[in-house]
Amino acid sequence: MHYISTRGFGPVNFETTVLDGLAPDGGLYVPTSYPKLSREELDELSFLSYEDMADKIMSPFIGDSIPSDVLSNIIKTAYSKFNDIEVTPVVQYEENLWLMELFHGPTFAFKDVAMQFLGPVLEYTLGQKGQTATVIGATSGDTGPAAIEGLKNSENINVFMLYPHNRTSAIQRMQMTTSGGQNIFPIAVEGTFDDCQDIVKELFSDLAFKEQVNATSVNSISWARLLPQMVYYFFAWSRIRDMITGKDLTFSVPTGNFGDAFAGYLAMQCGLPIQSILVATNSNDILDRFFKDNDYSVQKVVPTRSPSMDIQVASNFERLLFDIYGRDADVLKHNMQEFKNNKNLPQVNALQLDEVRSIFTSHKVSEVETLKMMSESDFTHNIVIDPHTAVGLAAAKAHPELKPCVSLATAHPLKFPSALKEATAKELLFDDDLDKMMKSEEKFDILPPETDTIRQYILDNI
Ligand SMILES: *Cc1c(COP(=O)(O)O)cnc(C)c1O
Repeated sequence: MHYISTRGFGPVNFETTVLDGLAPDGGLYVPTSYPKLSREELDELSFLSYEDMADKIMSPFIGDSIPSDVLSNIIKTAYSKFNDIEVTPVVQYEENLWLMELFHGPTFAFKDVAMQFLGPVLEYTLGQKGQTATVIGATSGDTGPAAIEGLKNSENINVFMLYPHNRTSAIQRMQMTTSGGQNIFPIAVEGTFDDCQDIVKELFSDLAFKEQVNATSVNSISWARLLPQMVYYFFAWSRIRDMITGKDLTFSVPTGNFGDAFAGYLAMQCGLPIQSILVATNSNDILDRFFKDNDYSVQKVVPTRSPSMDIQVASNFERLLFDIYGRDADVLKHNMQEFKNNKNLPQVNALQLDEVRSIFTSHKVSEVETLKMMSESDFTHNIVIDPHTAVGLAAAKAHPELKPCVSLATAHPLKFPSALKEATAKELLFDDDLDKMMKSEEKFDILPPETDTIRQYILDNI
C-alpha cells in the first residue's frame, strides 16, 4: 500500500507517513487505493476478537513497514490496556439503536484507541531508523493524556505537552502530570489553549530547531492515528449484524476534527455496508453547515460543554475534499489557498454535493439539547453519558429514518463531572485506579506563554 499527499506529494510508504505526520507539501497523506473486503471476509469478522480484527483490517495498509509478528504484538499490547475484554463493547440503548463504548482505555476517551497504537508504532519506526524524536503538542483536554499514556517510557521519544494552566479539568491535568514517565514533560502555560497552539506552531516553523530536536506531532492529521479508528466500525457491525438482518447501519459520530467520522468513511470505502455517517456537531457547526448548505466558512469558536469538539477548522476534512474533487491535487491546493485567504471554501458543485450527501448526513445539537439528552438517558434508560456522547445520541434520536444506528460513546462521563452534575445532579464515584491517580504526586512545570522560553526548556530537557 502506498500513500500520496492530498496536495500531490508522493507516493510514500506507511513508515514515511508515521515519521512525517503532515506531508512535506502541507497536505495530508491518504492511501492510493482502498482495499475492499469481500462479502466472505466480512462474514468471517464475527468470529474474530477485536485484536485479530485490528490485525486483519490494518495489515494491508501497513505492508512491509512493520513485520507481521511485530504488528500483532503492538496491537495485543495496546488493547490489553483496555478495561473491557471486547475493547469497544457495543451495548443496546433501545430498539435499533446502540451505543459503542470507545472509552475503556487508560484515559477514558476514544483517543486511546488511536494513541495506544500510534505510540509503539512511532517508537518502532524510529528504532528501525536509529532515530530519536521529540513530540511537541498542545492540548485542551483529551489529546494530551491519551498521547502521554501512549508514549510514556518510549526509549527514543521525549514528549512536551503544553496545556493552559488552571484551565483543564483536574482529571485531565492529573492524567498528564502523574504518568511517571521519565520522558514526559507536561508544561502548564500561563495562557489560553490558543496561546499553547500558537507556540507549538511557531516551534514547528523554526526549521533549525525542528531539525535539531527531530520534532514530530501526534495530532489527528497523522495517518497512523486514523487507521486504528477504522477497526471499531467493522467491530460494531460484526457484533450486531445478526440483529439488523438485511439492513445497512448508520453511525452517529460526535465530531470535531473529523478524524473519527472520516475513519467511518474509510471503513465504508473498504466494503463495510454503511447506510450513512451522521456527523453530529455541537454549536461549532462548520461541518453541519457544509453538508446542509454547502457553506464551509470559518466562524468564531464558541466554548461548549463538549470541549473536545470545539473546533472550527476540521483538519481531516481535507482528506474528504480530496475525494470529492476526484483526487485532483491541483484543485484541492487551489481551493485550500482560497479557504486560507477568505476563511471560506469555494462551494462544491451540485453533483459533488449529491455524492457526499449520499454518504454523510449531519445534525447540530445545542447546549440545551445536550443536557436534556444526558438527563433523559439517565432517567429513562439508567445510562449515564458524557456531553460528547450526548451530542451523538441526540443526533441519532433526531434521525429515526436512519436506523438501525450505532452512536459512538467517545468519553466516559467521569471525565466531565460538572456537566454531569448539571444534567443529572449525579456525581460518579472514582474507581480504585482513578482514586490512586488523584492522590499521586504531580510532575509539571509552569512557564510563561513565550515561545523562546519554551524552546529553551525543551532544549534543556532532551
Ligand atoms: C476528540 C474527541 C471528539 C472528536 O473527534 P474528532 O475525531 O476530532 O472528530 C469527540 N469526543 C471526544 C470525547 C473527543 O475526545
